[in-house]
Amino acid sequence: MIQNTCETNNPFQMFKERIDSVCGHMKVSEACHTILKECKREFTVHFPVKMDEGSTKLFTGYRVQHSDTRGPFKGGIRFHPDVNLDEVKALAAWMTMKAAVVNIPYGGAKGAVICNPKTLSQNELERMTRRYTSEVSVLIGPEKDIPAPDVGTNPQIMAWIMDTYSMNRGNSVLGVVTGKPIEIGGSLGRFEATGRGCMINALLAAKHLGIKIDGGTVAVQGFGNVGGVAAKMFTQKGSRIIAVSDSRGGIYNEKGLDIYALQHHKQKTGTIIGFKEGETITKNELLGLKCDILVPAALENTICADNADMVQARMIVEGANGPTTPDADAILNDNGKFVIPDILANAGGVVVSYFEWVQGLQSFFWSEEQVNQQLETVMNNAFHEVLELSQHEKVSMREAAYMLAVKRIDSALMLRGIYP
Ligand code: NAD
Repeated sequence: MIQNTCETNNPFQMFKERIDSVCGHMKVSEACHTILKECKREFTVHFPVKMDEGSTKLFTGYRVQHSDTRGPFKGGIRFHPDVNLDEVKALAAWMTMKAAVVNIPYGGAKGAVICNPKTLSQNELERMTRRYTSEVSVLIGPEKDIPAPDVGTNPQIMAWIMDTYSMNRGNSVLGVVTGKPIEIGGSLGRFEATGRGCMINALLAAKHLGIKIDGGTVAVQGFGNVGGVAAKMFTQKGSRIIAVSDSRGGIYNEKGLDIYALQHHKQKTGTIIGFKEGETITKNELLGLKCDILVPAALENTICADNADMVQARMIVEGANGPTTPDADAILNDNGKFVIPDILANAGGVVVSYFEWVQGLQSFFWSEEQVNQQLETVMNNAFHEVLELSQHEKVSMREAAYMLAVKRIDSALMLRGIYP
């Protein structure tokens, strides 16, 4: 079996190298090139939480703000045992790029707490979330920095963040966080938005490449918010989901998995493993399956130089942030794969977060149809802008997406100037 050494790559280092390479191929101000390679603010906090059995545990959390050149900072919060500062910095920087590619008026940020939410009781999770919110409330706010869900966090956690921030302000502040439950100012369509955005991108790319989605085969890595919804969306379009993986392993069925039954199994057992209507495969084996579309929707660095050559899918739709390392990217390009890069493929989430924020600020809510229609318009425009640039400049979709983002950030920076 191929040994997977992907984890050793430093995502922020990779981001900086990407910026150097992209800026080397285009006209961009030196100021923009330099500024993009650092985060504006990096906040680390160690905070205590009372555990159920009476002990006190110290947690470490982060909020990193990369850029607010194009608008307020925006980015999710990750709860994961292995998260570290450089990972959060990379995630914040990718948010800046993503918002610029889809042309919404946000900068980029990200937050995290080193913890395993699965081992905390609901009460411990709530106390930990509320204390973390209190600690980062010097930075966040509806006109400053707006968090959202990411790996290990969900609408309930967003509700606690909104409530904690509001209690300390003395009034309900809907716009402080997105990805909230509908009952307290969330947007219809937000939960599905990232997976739906992946689907919209895949449909556009399939048309461009002459691939069929209806009847096509798909493998999905990760079965959480993004991967779970993407799998459902592809099923609804007539695709066969031949494999799915989660942190414990993978499930394969050449005839196609029943995604609804698999979701039910996961709700009951907490994992996809043990699902009767498929055979068990490893997480790495999933990446090398013969299929039309591969959707990495788990964590960073899962496709690296060690395993990129075994990818057989014609199209890769990056539901996750940073799933492909630069070496792997070069291998995929050489092998003729069409990669829809993360900063485009998974931007549906931040687009509908933007819609949720706008609805919250106006206290005027849209129908699900309106949300999905607007999302489709934004993604359609972004996909075609990136595709046209990639054809014009003869570069990959990833390089084109970065070029478009850097160009937009640079022109905003030039207009604003360097203060004072
Ligand atoms: P999630 O916590 O809901 O799900 C993550 C899934 O990945 C889980 O099923 C987990 O078991 C699985 N996983 C973890 N390690 C794995 C591995 N090594 N192999 C296979 N599966 C593994 O998180 P999510 O919100 O779905 O986020 C997934 C990715 O999408 C992350 O990179 C995140 O930053 C990105 N993303 C999320 C959103 C969003 O709106 N939630 C938006 C844009 C990008």
